[in-house]
Amino acid sequence: MLALRHLLSAGRTRLGIWLPLALLILLVGLTWSVVLAQSLANSEAKNARDAFRFASDEIASSLKLSISHEEDLVVSTSAYVVRSPAARTPVAFDRWIESVEALRRFPELENIGFTVLVPASRLAAFKAHEAKDPIRPFGAQRPGAWEAGVLPSEGRSFYCLAAAGTARSAEAYMPVGLDYCALAPTMMYDRDAGAPSYAPITLAGKTTLGVSTPVYSTGAPPGTVVARRRAFLGWLGELLVPDVVIRRALEGHPNIAVKFSFSLPTSHVVFSHGGIPKGAMTDTPVVHSVPEAHARWVLQTFMPGVTSVLFNRPNAMLRLLAGVLLTLLASSFILLLATGRRRALALVAAKTAELAHLAAHDPLTGLPNRTLVLDRATQLIARHMRHPELTAALFIDIDGFKEVNDTMGHAAGDRLLRTVAERLQATVREQDTVGRMSGDEFVVLFEATSDEPIEALADRLNRVLREPVLLTPGAAPVQVTASIGIAYGRYTTPDELLRDADMALYQAKGAGRDRHVLFSASAEVTPEMAAKDI
Ligand code: GH3
Ligand code: MG
Repeated sequence: MLALRHLLSAGRTRLGIWLPLALLILLVGLTWSVVLAQSLANSEAKNARDAFRFASDEIASSLKLSISHEEDLVVSTSAYVVRSPAARTPVAFDRWIESVEALRRFPELENIGFTVLVPASRLAAFKAHEAKDPIRPFGAQRPGAWEAGVLPSEGRSFYCLAAAGTARSAEAYMPVGLDYCALAPTMMYDRDAGAPSYAPITLAGKTTLGVSTPVYSTGAPPGTVVARRRAFLGWLGELLVPDVVIRRALEGHPNIAVKFSFSLPTSHVVFSHGGIPKGAMTDTPVVHSVPEAHARWVLQTFMPGVTSVLFNRPNAMLRLLAGVLLTLLASSFILLLATGRRRALALVAAKTAELAHLAAHDPLTGLPNRTLVLDRATQLIARHMRHPELTAALFIDIDGFKEVNDTMGHAAGDRLLRTVAERLQATVREQDTVGRMSGDEFVVLFEATSDEPIEALADRLNRVLREPVLLTPGAAPVQVTASIGIAYGRYTTPDELLRDADMALYQAKGAGRDRHVLFSASAEVTPEMAAKDI
């Protein structure tokens, strides 16, 4: 538990506010990325839906135009046939159709003709008249067709037979003698209702739309059924291929499928183009501008459904990915800054500690140098203000060190200095300070406890230093001795303490070396000692 708290607090101090900041950026960044990506998905889906609606309206208006165009043909042709009986003859009718270039201008028009109501009593006369003035361009097929008689076979009280007409191709010719009313009984109803009717007719594998419009001598349909029957001239029949119109309307909208239907109480026709995908969007744009004329046409458009689900929209996913990457980059950058700063601080601290160590230690032996020794001496004096007798300093100087340098070389001298340093350290207690003051001069700052009298320690140091030292491998070990000066007791400054220890050291040197001397204030500095100092 304690370790965990320690770890946490270490983490806090190392990364400080940077870690929460990086986490905050991560959280906000990721949330924003999702929100922005979703908004893109939504707007893309909305745009696609709007575009679909726009395209649907375009298709609807194109169809509307085709229908009204088609109605114009019906209206103008009806007006033409109403003019005179002569207009209703095959030659005149064909000339009219040619003059208005109907087949060229209406690519969906397969066939157009005028059908009349022939009572059974007048069938023979109709046939005779027809033989004289045949519907063109039936050519060789025609007589054969009439030979077969009325289709389906005769026996009804009236027939609805083509009096004039033309077709785009041989396949679109209606057989001569075909009784349209037998095929589409609603034609009689249309005559009475004064309204056109529509019926799907399959012609040579093509689904076509048959349109039959009653024509009255009055032009517009009269107001009553009786009047309509009296004014009735015949039906204007058209065979249309709605697919042609639908294809034209769908140009430039490859993804849209349509269902185009027409409903009347008597007929319901549906033309469709394109496959309707599952889950498709659908629209029912208005096809009619003049309700009376087009109201019953219904257009339904379909397009593959547009989803606003984020994962199904590549652009939104790209935006999400970019957002996530940017967020990760930003938070990593913050962390990098934080750790970089931490590393820099740690480096500065390490370098500072290194410099501080270098400034306070002797590079040869690694022992505290004069500066640090003085500092430690100050602390020692301060610690023992109440028991000054505990404060002690030992000054140690190798006897005849110069000779080692001279005879064995400076490097050997260095090795000796290092050995002395090690031995001193190994001899004193951990809390005591061993330092190198200069050259072959060392100091021990000592706390004189009752464990060991100061002189006993000095004795031990003399003994330890006397131990032979192997300075050069293969050569004979060297034996050196040391002189030790001791000062202890009431001192207020480290300088005084060390000065007296130094003085005692001189006394030890003067007394013959390889010994220790306790500082005594009465002791005098001998002339030879003073000379040596110079
Ligand atoms: P005494 O018995 O009176 O102490 O004489 P000594 O020969 O030991 O000479 P002294 O203590 O007066 O001089 C110390 C010599 O140590 C002087 C100098 O050449 C030498 N010395 C100082 N620093 C170094 C060092 O870092 N390495 C080596 N090898 N010698 C040093
Ligand atoms: Mg010396």
